[in-house]
Amino acid sequence: MSRPPLDPECLGLHVPTPRADAIRVDWAKSLPRADRLRVRGHTCACTYPAFELCTAAGLWFVRRLPAKGLGDIVESAWTSASATEELWLQIVTGRAR
Ligand SMILES: [Zn+2]
Repeated sequence: MSRPPLDPECLGLHVPTPRADAIRVDWAKSLPRADRLRVRGHTCACTYPAFELCTAAGLWFVRRLPAKGLGDIVESAWTSASATEELWLQIVTGRAR
């Protein structure tokens, strides 16, 4: 469940509460599959779950970071930049969860 930012002045990227018809992302448990991982975008860490747009080994994916103690870090399928950017846009606009 997304919450509004604790600080209304917070300028980070905040994910709205997903819409009722939001697509369910096929999240899988995050496993260390590549030596180097770059985070290209992230939502504000003031709210959970937080999301990171990541690239590794030439592929892109989104990681979902739960609040501490509330489950595992999970990630979307590793795929192309364009497919992952579309998924990222859907997540940050509440159209995918
Ligand atoms: Zn924030």
